[in-house]
Amino acid sequence: MNEIVVISGKGGTGKTTITASLAGIVPSQVLADCDVDAADMHLVTQPEIERTHEFYSGELPEIDPDTCSQCGTCRDYCRFGAISEDLQIKKEQCEGCALCYHVCPEGAIQMHPRLCGYWYESRTRFGPMAHATLGTGEENSGKLVTTVRQAAHNTAEKEGYQNVLVDGSPGIGCPVIASLTNASLAVIVGEPTVSAIGDLKRVCELTEFFDIPTLSIINKSDINEDLVSEIEQFCRQKDIPIAGKLPYDPVFTQAQLQGKTVFEYDPEGQGKVLEQIWSNIEKKLLKN
Ligand code: SF4
Ligand code: SF4
Repeated sequence: MNEIVVISGKGGTGKTTITASLAGIVPSQVLADCDVDAADMHLVTQPEIERTHEFYSGELPEIDPDTCSQCGTCRDYCRFGAISEDLQIKKEQCEGCALCYHVCPEGAIQMHPRLCGYWYESRTRFGPMAHATLGTGEENSGKLVTTVRQAAHNTAEKEGYQNVLVDGSPGIGCPVIASLTNASLAVIVGEPTVSAIGDLKRVCELTEFFDIPTLSIINKSDINEDLVSEIEQFCRQKDIPIAGKLPYDPVFTQAQLQGKTVFEYDPEGQGKVLEQIWSNIEKKLLKN
């Protein structure tokens, strides 16, 4: 089974649009939206949720008002200001360190698993999909990314799909590492802007470190020829083949507004370019 992870050094490079478009082309696939902090692939793939699962990470204290003597010790010790004057836990400020639990002289505080979001097993017109929503202000998305990836992997194994196509997390932190670990192939989406090139170089260091075969796609390739040349030169030095280039084209936005992939909306235009990109990705997978 192939696990293809589409990543970018930063958000806003068109990563999700390109992943969703590939979803209409890749055969025998399960989709995974691992961009859990800003999941939006569902806007195009329109999944029908079959199963919903709660996602717990860390702990949250609960004060039993019948046992609490209102001494205020917990509030005084909490360094995060997560206990209000009237002894209510402020969930968004609580780090789950359990210090309040340990200092309470009455044993009035219990720590409980913290509900941080939900993950889903769904069906789309392109195949099964695993995806998630993280509660507002919740962290630990690396763990949720691993959960979503594993769910997609399990579905592919159980139902005999050949490919898992992952919309990876942006950046170079914990969530993108969780998106990438043990992937068959990383596809980096970059764009010719100064900041995006810096991010692309950093994310390449990551795939190099984890020894993951890597391809790149240059999005909005017609906005700055000099910077496109710089990306090409960097990719040559690093031996990272360029799977294709996509121009800045309003069809990407128009397709999204209609809830379609670019391949569905513009099959004879940018759809053809994306088909060629998938063909190059496939060749790279066969070589590995
Ligand atoms: S768990 Fe830690 S951060 Fe949360 S309320 Fe208790 S002391 Fe404060
Ligand atoms: S330390 Fe315990 S008893 Fe004191 S206010 Fe906090 S919960 Fe209540």
